[in-house]
Amino acid sequence: MFQFQARSVNSVALFVQKYGGTSVGSTERIKNVARRIAKFCAQGHELVVVVSAMSGETNRLIALAKEIQSNPDPRELDVMVSTGEQVTIALLAMALMELNIRAKSYTGAQVRILTNNAHTKARILKIDEDRIRADLKAGYVVVVAGFQGIDEANNITTLGRGGSDTTGVALAAALKADECQIYTDVNGIYTTDPRIVPEARRLKTITFEEMLEMASLGSKVLQIRSVEFAGKYRVKLRVLSSFEEEGDGTLITFEDDDNMEQAVISGIAFNRDEAKITILGVPDHPGIAYQILGPVADANIDVDMIIQNVSHDGTTDFSFTVNRGEFINTMNILRDKILPHIGARDVIGGDKIAKVSVVGVGMRSHAGIASKMFRVLAEEGINIQMITTSEIKISVVVDEKYMELAVRVLHKAFDLDQTL
Ligand code: ASP
Ligand code: MG
Repeated sequence: MFQFQARSVNSVALFVQKYGGTSVGSTERIKNVARRIAKFCAQGHELVVVVSAMSGETNRLIALAKEIQSNPDPRELDVMVSTGEQVTIALLAMALMELNIRAKSYTGAQVRILTNNAHTKARILKIDEDRIRADLKAGYVVVVAGFQGIDEANNITTLGRGGSDTTGVALAAALKADECQIYTDVNGIYTTDPRIVPEARRLKTITFEEMLEMASLGSKVLQIRSVEFAGKYRVKLRVLSSFEEEGDGTLITFEDDDNMEQAVISGIAFNRDEAKITILGVPDHPGIAYQILGPVADANIDVDMIIQNVSHDGTTDFSFTVNRGEFINTMNILRDKILPHIGARDVIGGDKIAKVSVVGVGMRSHAGIASKMFRVLAEEGINIQMITTSEIKISVVVDEKYMELAVRVLHKAFDLDQTL
């Protein structure tokens, strides 16, 4: 049975539902979404629905802009790409009307989703939810364009790729919705990528912190910012499939919730988009780390792992990883601008690496996760090149060609294929 029914048998709930690009990719699919919404309406629930642009539309619009300006003006780009979502809200409202459901659509600006003025990556500052509340009261399904807002000076802004997720969560926070349901083309968050490990299992729950680790490590189901937002405002966030009639998806939850799954490890994440760089023979004195990473940061290059060992003879090696696309650029900066100044011996690096991480809040209270991880990799003869840890994550860098093997053996060793 569909669990939302069970959860709210006697009560009427307010749900914010977000449907992504593939879920509204054709008029046929939009009609399907309308039918799904109609079921919730029939149960008496109040619904605010956020939609993305039809699949491919945002890319098409960006490509159009680039035919005119190779580096499109950010303000005008926002005016244009925001139209993708404007089309979908109207189509969905029409589809709902065809099912005799009262529906009304609003752009971000009409709602007044106030953002800062950082065009193409704006942040939501405030939402005027009064009009939406009045519409809900009057029995409307309110359909809102995702991904967009307006700044103080009435310029249209957009929230960055995947930003409709954040619109959904922000609306759920503003309206104090019972749940924010993100409908997408996967039916939840998995223990790892099922394309690599067919036994990967859908998680019933995952904590916000774990989700952030999994997301930033390459699982692309939700915009990271939406997860941060949900964590901050304690929005109940659920990921489900818009193509399956049944299923509870994955609930993103808090560590202090009692409905949490009890596994120590929740998932194995991986990322093959990184490159490693090591500076050899770095003199060991104050300010060196800053002298190395300052110019890298000034070039807007994100650094992920950073490792420096204690020195015995006055010098040490300093290693870090960057996005693979920034590898050459970073090596050049180091050779030209940094090495000559700090008196280090040499810089070496490679981009045939991958990062594999074991993630789980259970690590806080369980010893031996790291040693188990290292043993399992050793048994397969996989050499570990770098290691970093946080309270809920252990990451290793290995040769790219062993990545899939590492993910598979770790998934098995931590029993992630077993249902709890
Ligand atoms: N349409 C936008 C994009 O493709 C926003 C979204 O779908 O969330 O990135
Ligand atoms: Mg998305």
